Amino acid sequence: MLIIFDLDDTLIDTSGSLTPHLLERALKKMVDGGLQVKNFSTALYILKTLDKKTASSEETLKLFLAYTRADVKLLEIGLKEMNELPPQIQVKPIMGAIALLQELRKSHQLVLVTAGSVIFQKAKWENAGIDSKVFSKIAIATNGVKKIYYEQILREFHAKPAETIVIGDRVKKDLKPAKDLGCLTIHMKWGRGRLAEGTSGVIDYAISNLNEIQEILMRKL
Ligand SMILES: [Mg+2]
Repeated sequence: MLIIFDLDDTLIDTSGSLTPHLLERALKKMVDGGLQVKNFSTALYILKTLDKKTASSEETLKLFLAYTRADVKLLEIGLKEMNELPPQIQVKPIMGAIALLQELRKSHQLVLVTAGSVIFQKAKWENAGIDSKVFSKIAIATNGVKKIYYEQILREFHAKPAETIVIGDRVKKDLKPAKDLGCLTIHMKWGRGRLAEGTSGVIDYAISNLNEIQEILMRKL
């Protein structure tokens, strides 16, 4: 089987171990840049609460700045903080991720397709202790759109879509394009992906523990 993994909130716990720190840093920088907040802790609480309901940190910051009637130029300052790994932060792998990748690579081809900036994505997987050598290929969709990468990978690996599994937390961004190509999909219910939107016909399997992938593979083979 060809198994294509997403990174954030699939192999690494971005929403749990990283996002809260980034939101705090973004808020601090925006305050330094002139954002007026009565109480920093309350503002941070609002920011974190908003972030649980939005599709991206950009949307969170936009909503927050609109809510506080702040200057929109602060968005750029905040967004810059959301896309850099602070040196003292430890990104945690999702439970079981490292061992699972080592195990799966013995009998499958593994590929990583992740959306974001090259430097930031690489910094996160390295920090979390994910060994990039387990992947036969790594593709970073800097524009956030994964379908073209899935197509390229299917061609490159001469893989049949029906024998290709795509695993990710985002139904629309990770799984819908994979399902459109005929791949099998596993929804990792983690982080933002817990709020599964428009799931009908897109998800073949849903898991909340990565080790369930082994059971799914066993049933497929
Ligand atoms: Mg993700």
